[in-house]
Amino acid sequence: MIVVMQNGASERDIDYIVRRARSLGLSSHVSEQQGQILVGLSGDMRGIEPAALRGLPGVEQVKAMSHPYRLASREFRTERTEIPVRELRIGGDDLVLMGGPCSVESKDQILECAHMVKDAGGQVLRGGAFKPRSSPYSFQGLAEDGLKYLAAAREETGLAIITEVMAIEQVEMVCEYTDILQIGTRNMHNFNLLHAVGRTRTPVMLKRGMMSTLKELLLSAEYILSQGNPYVMLCERGIRTFETYTRNTLDINAVPSLRELTHLPVIVDPSHATGKASLVRSASRAAVAAGCDGLIIEMHPDPSAAWSDGAQSLAPEEFRRTFAESRAVSEALKPLTAAGG
Ligand code: PEP
Ligand code: MN
Repeated sequence: MIVVMQNGASERDIDYIVRRARSLGLSSHVSEQQGQILVGLSGDMRGIEPAALRGLPGVEQVKAMSHPYRLASREFRTERTEIPVRELRIGGDDLVLMGGPCSVESKDQILECAHMVKDAGGQVLRGGAFKPRSSPYSFQGLAEDGLKYLAAAREETGLAIITEVMAIEQVEMVCEYTDILQIGTRNMHNFNLLHAVGRTRTPVMLKRGMMSTLKELLLSAEYILSQGNPYVMLCERGIRTFETYTRNTLDINAVPSLRELTHLPVIVDPSHATGKASLVRSASRAAVAAGCDGLIIEMHPDPSAAWSDGAQSLAPEEFRRTFAESRAVSEALKPLTAAGG
């Protein structure tokens, strides 16, 4: 339920609603939207009469919520969220292009990749220093050394950086280096980790669990938002279906669906969604045409030598082409979508 306060509502009126909610065993969250105060209420709503709240001083209207997530919903916040990352605005007018290797392998490798990302028109460098590998015998990442190399690449190129955090104990250290924290598909349901990143103010890219619904993704985002971190972007990275030709199935429906359901920016990862370098360029164009706010794409100077995910990593020329075409699709659509298309 959302209590929309009148424009002239006083602090006392708001406080009264919050205290009243508490006495009814409900939790509340006060926010401001275009100068209007909203009090979101959640908990067991049985027996709560909207009419009783409507009559309280300072209350303009009381709206029922149609979804179990609250802070992530468009009902709660109609304006789209823009996330500031250095001089970028993720979720703003311009498509954000993120690229880099699956894993940071060495300082030279990440510096070489960073220059390729920058030259291809990218704004954010990706690279895993903590890797969630299916096998415990596979390369697990360079840990803090990898983070240092990413920071050195940012220093040299001015690109922002994004890297995965896998455990609560790593959050503080990863935040010291990165501009954006990545929560991987396998950790979308790690609620303690979500709470921990929610207590920071570092932007978070939350990847959709490979077997999760959009509702579950939004409820996971709610775990982060409810701890006070408003900077959450969602990432569609493919889900498991019965198809085996591709590693996963890119759920293109997720892009416009999430734009209807939430104000949070939507990023697409066509690399993990397809698992095949030959399909990434087409999937990228489709994702941009569907209305995503950004792409995150794996690349490598020599994909055949990559320490992880080489089969889906783009070689330099294909990578440049993919970024250029994605940007072109985005720019071509701008005048059409601005006209309400
Ligand atoms: C990755 O980005 O390299 C990664 C491991 O992604 P996901 O969590 O989507 O599998
Ligand atoms: Mn990968």
